[in-house]
Amino acid sequence: RDIKQPLLKCQYQTKSHLNTSKSIKIMQWNMLSQALSTGKDSFCRCPSSALELPFRVLRILEEIANVDADIICLQEVDLFGILHSVLCRIGYNATFLPKPDSPALYCKNTYGPDGCAIFYKRNELESIDCERLILKSLSGHFTNQVCLVATFKRGDNLFCVANTHLKARKGWEVLREEQGVFLINHFHSKYSQLPLLICGDFNGDPNENVYKVITSKMNFMSSYKSILNSEPEFTTWKIRGGRGGETDIRKTVDYIFYSSNYINITSIKKLPEEKEIGSERLPGYHYPSDHLSLAVEFSFK
Ligand code: NDP
Ligand code: CA
Repeated sequence: RDIKQPLLKCQYQTKSHLNTSKSIKIMQWNMLSQALSTGKDSFCRCPSSALELPFRVLRILEEIANVDADIICLQEVDLFGILHSVLCRIGYNATFLPKPDSPALYCKNTYGPDGCAIFYKRNELESIDCERLILKSLSGHFTNQVCLVATFKRGDNLFCVANTHLKARKGWEVLREEQGVFLINHFHSKYSQLPLLICGDFNGDPNENVYKVITSKMNFMSSYKSILNSEPEFTTWKIRGGRGGETDIRKTVDYIFYSSNYINITSIKKLPEEKEIGSERLPGYHYPSDHLSLAVEFSFK
C-alpha cells in the first residue's frame, strides 16, 4: 500500500432516531509511547522506519485531525510537548498527568515520562476543574497508574471525562480489578450527580473482572457495546517477538464507558476490519499505534 496515501475519512455508525445536532465528540486512544515503541515493545514485524519519530508524529496528528473530536483522551503520551505545540494552534487546550515512575524514562531513546492527556476544544467547552489521581490498590498503596478527571461545561450542561491507563500484562488481573474498584468508588462518591464518561486502556478484555467492576455501578455502559450489541472484536493487535518466538496478540481492552442515566451515545466511529489491518498487524505505516482509536458522539438526556 502507498504509505503517502492518507487514511480514509472516518465513517460513523449512527442511531438514527437520536438528535445529533447538539452532540459532543470524544476520542479515546492509546497512541503508543514513542520510547516504548522502539525500547520495550518488541514489535517484530513492524518496519523500523514506521516507528521513527517524525513519521509517527505526523501519523498521530493526522489521526487526531481526522477524528476532529471535541475532547481527546490519550494514553502513553510521552510526546506531550510536541502534540500540545501543534494542537494548541488548531484550537485545543490540554492537561497532562505523567505516571509516577514511567517505564518510558528507562528506554534508550527517551522523550520524558509517559502518561494520560486530555485535549479539548477551547471554543466549544469551558474547563471547570481537572482532578489528578494516582490509583491505589485495595491495601491503599499507590500504584504506577494514573487517572485525569476533567469537568467541562457546555451551555447549561456540566459533565466529566475521566482518562486512565490501567496496569498492563498477564498476571496482573487482580491489581487491574483493584484499580477499577478504586476508580468506581471514587466516581461514585464524587461524580455520581454528573454525566461522566470514562475513557481508557483498561488492559482487560470484556471477560475480566475490571470490566464487570466498572459496569457494576452508576449504570455505566460501554459505548461501542451499546451500539454494536457486543464489544469490537479487537482494539489492539500486534505481533511481539521474544525468546519463545512470535506471539500474536489480539484483544479488546480500550473502552469509552458512559453513565447511561445521563448520556445517550448517538454514534460510534467505525473501526477497521481484519483485512484492513494487514499481515504485519499494528503498529505500521498506516496505523502509528498498536491500539485503534475509538470515538463516539454523545448527547445529554
Ligand atoms: P505496565 O506493566 O503497566 O506496562 C508498561 C507498558 O508496557 C504499557 O504501556 C504496556 O502497554 C506495555 N506492555 C504491556 N505488555 C508488554 C509486553 N509483553 N512487552 C512489552 N511491553 C508491554 O507498567 P508499569 O507502569 O507498572 O511499570 C512497570 C514496568 O516499567 C516494569 O515492568 C519495568 O519494565 C518498567 N520500569 C523499569 C524501570 C527500570 O528499568 N529501572 C523502573 C520503572 C519501571 P499496553 O498498556 O499498551 O499493553
Ligand atoms: Ca503499549
